[in-house]
Amino acid sequence: MTLTKEELVRYSRQLVVPEVGPEGQLRLKSAKVAVVGAGGLGNMVLACLAGAGVGELGIFDSGPVELSNLHRQFAYGTSDVGKLKTALAAARLREINPGIEVTAREGLLTAANMKGALAGYDQIADCTDNFQTRSAINRACLELGKTYVHAAVYRMEGQLAVFEPGRGPCLGCLSPLEAGDEAQACAEAGVLGPAAAAVGALQALEVIKLILGLETLKGRFAMLDFGSSRFSVAELPRWEDCPVCGKDAAKARPAPALRPAYITPEQLKAKLAEGARLRVLDLRQDWEHDLCHIPGDLRVEPEKLTGAAPGFRRGELLVLYCKGQSKSTSAWRALKAKGFEKVFVLEGGIDAWAEKIDKNMTRY
Ligand SMILES: [Zn+2]
Repeated sequence: MTLTKEELVRYSRQLVVPEVGPEGQLRLKSAKVAVVGAGGLGNMVLACLAGAGVGELGIFDSGPVELSNLHRQFAYGTSDVGKLKTALAAARLREINPGIEVTAREGLLTAANMKGALAGYDQIADCTDNFQTRSAINRACLELGKTYVHAAVYRMEGQLAVFEPGRGPCLGCLSPLEAGDEAQACAEAGVLGPAAAAVGALQALEVIKLILGLETLKGRFAMLDFGSSRFSVAELPRWEDCPVCGKDAAKARPAPALRPAYITPEQLKAKLAEGARLRVLDLRQDWEHDLCHIPGDLRVEPEKLTGAAPGFRRGELLVLYCKGQSKSTSAWRALKAKGFEKVFVLEGGIDAWAEKIDKNMTRY
């Protein structure tokens, strides 16, 4: 393989970087990278890798662009709302660099199909926003023996690591949580656009360094606190009791956390229509409640429910909801632990209510 004249010109500014050079550029050209998630992190990672001349990029995501994505997902514009991210991102990357191969796969990746999806790639960037998908990537990489670059953003914080499951530490060594719903998705916890962009750029750098064979964050863990402008890197040892890669992982999987009792939007609608005695509690913030809520509900701080005095009787029928179901699931566990019997989580939260029951409701 050689570089064409057009490529020599296109990449001239990075070819002169001693760590790259023509040999490094050829390594980039023959690399295949899967980017899981085409949101805030993924947008930046994909653009950086396409620009740098990574020969083959796989985009994995599902669903359309939403208005509330645009503050951090700069590959999309206002006229893109409602269109599929995968198709838009692929078109954008082909425009950035027509010399690379881009494939887009629309659809959810789960523990069942992750391994098959990632098998054909050399490098993997985890740009997802929820713990279930992250766990599935981690396990798939353990089974495939692949290294991957993990990144996450939360409000004004970011974290970054290069995991080599089975050889070095894995996501389970860092965060042993296996039940995903405790870890709030960024849709619910919030995130600043530049924080996602900054972490995404660092993630792309780690991928490029892996391809070039340079020193990376392997075995270490970067914490980026943009609020206080404090950035630190710590050693991350492999944990021998890790539930994923530890010595007893295969025989003793931890018991999954208690699954909450759900009520579907349709069931809740029927209960409200028949005038059932129940309390619908909104655990979101004030402004979210102002934007949209279920009629007759009551907004409650989650800390109140998890604290010493929840303010409700144990026998009361309570339905908890938030945007998705992470806050409501955490509160459900806290109330269960306090002996509350009749507590339910609204399945899918206000998002599902808006989709199934009140189609005129403002979505965000
Ligand atoms: Zn581990």
